[in-house]
Amino acid sequence: MEDKNVRCSFCGRDKGEALILIAGIEGHICEVCVEQANDIIAEELYDKEKGEKDSTFLLPSNLTPKVIKKSLDEYVIGQDEAKRYLSVAVYNHYKRIGLEKKDDVELEKSNILFVGRTGTGKTLMAKTIARMLNVPFAIVDATVFTEAGYVGEDVESILSRLLQVCDYNVEAAEKGIVYIDEIDKIARKSDNPSITRDVSGEGVQQALLKMLEGTDVNVPPQGGRKHPEQKLIKVNTTNVLFICGGAFDGVEKYIGRRLNTQVIGYSKQEGTEVDKENLLQYVNHQDLRQFGLIPELLGRLPVLTYLNPLDLEALKTILVKPKNSIIKQYTKLFKIEGVDFSITDSALEFIAEKALEYKLGARGLRSICEAILTDAMFDIPSEKEKKPFQVDLRYAREKLGKSKLKQLKVA
Ligand code: ADP
Repeated sequence: MEDKNVRCSFCGRDKGEALILIAGIEGHICEVCVEQANDIIAEELYDKEKGEKDSTFLLPSNLTPKVIKKSLDEYVIGQDEAKRYLSVAVYNHYKRIGLEKKDDVELEKSNILFVGRTGTGKTLMAKTIARMLNVPFAIVDATVFTEAGYVGEDVESILSRLLQVCDYNVEAAEKGIVYIDEIDKIARKSDNPSITRDVSGEGVQQALLKMLEGTDVNVPPQGGRKHPEQKLIKVNTTNVLFICGGAFDGVEKYIGRRLNTQVIGYSKQEGTEVDKENLLQYVNHQDLRQFGLIPELLGRLPVLTYLNPLDLEALKTILVKPKNSIIKQYTKLFKIEGVDFSITDSALEFIAEKALEYKLGARGLRSICEAILTDAMFDIPSEKEKKPFQVDLRYAREKLGKSKLKQLKVA
């Protein structure tokens, strides 16, 4: 039975005025009030979320370097020393942001430099810390930059990426973290500065100085090369934390020379306890300077730490242990198909051995797993009967043997 006198219980419009009246238990609501309610909810939620985000910038009182490290432990295997350095640097950095306005003693910025071979977790560490602090995070590759005026990207576009990940919220970007990968590739090419111009090396290092230290930077919103008619966004980098990483291939010779041992040589030098297999662990600013980073840049990256190459055990652990480990991901994928997935210890060991052989660090693990599991991932979804699926050594060997991946093997 239709009641002619129904009205919106919120604004009082009757059936004639409202397009739609939705009935509830106690009354009605019209389409206009639904929309308004929707706006109010969105606004409230946004404010709440914003409040939560802002509070993380001021480091919650329970966040200490130990807590930061523990959280890194959930995602990054090994690399204890680097984790400790990173935890302290990040803790100090955010403490510094909190203090800034009230205090006279200015704490220096603790930008970080990671030295370590590819696939040892440099990017992963930076990514994990940004996720934990809930701040915008961008990864850029130093190799794409050239000095202003030459083909390539301006260094300012580093901040374009940061702006893009937080939807051009300048305030958020100004407290973000930037990971600059392959910083070793912008090393000065020779010890003899500037007979010919070194546009992708020293020039880029010079351009980075101010940004790393903290200054107002005019950023092209879309990145790339700045051009005159473009509108630029001003971003202050005083509170942006920069983490740089690089493999610094060949720096061992400077380390070796400094430690007075021979890197490439035969006999052991007597009386030395230097681990010659792994000289990179002794790296210091002086070695990197010889490698071709200018002292001014090194001065702006005061925290220098080193990541170990991953051994067989570490690679095996990486496959299964981290919170979102590769094997956990595959297990989930198969579970969605209704299939119980498992892998034997010997198969895990085989995958780790291959990753070592290919010299890709942990980066190789996923490609090897993909090569082994693609056939199963192709077939299983169309199988009627869902049987448990176990990967053992024989299966892993056979599938990898058939794949193109084996050509990756480094001679
Ligand atoms: P890079 O040192 O070259 O920056 P990444 O951090 O990008 O290496 O590592 C590549 C992939 O390898 C990551 O996505 C991660 O899954 C894995 N990985 C590397 N090192 C570790 C580690 N120490 N613990 C856990 N996973 C790691």
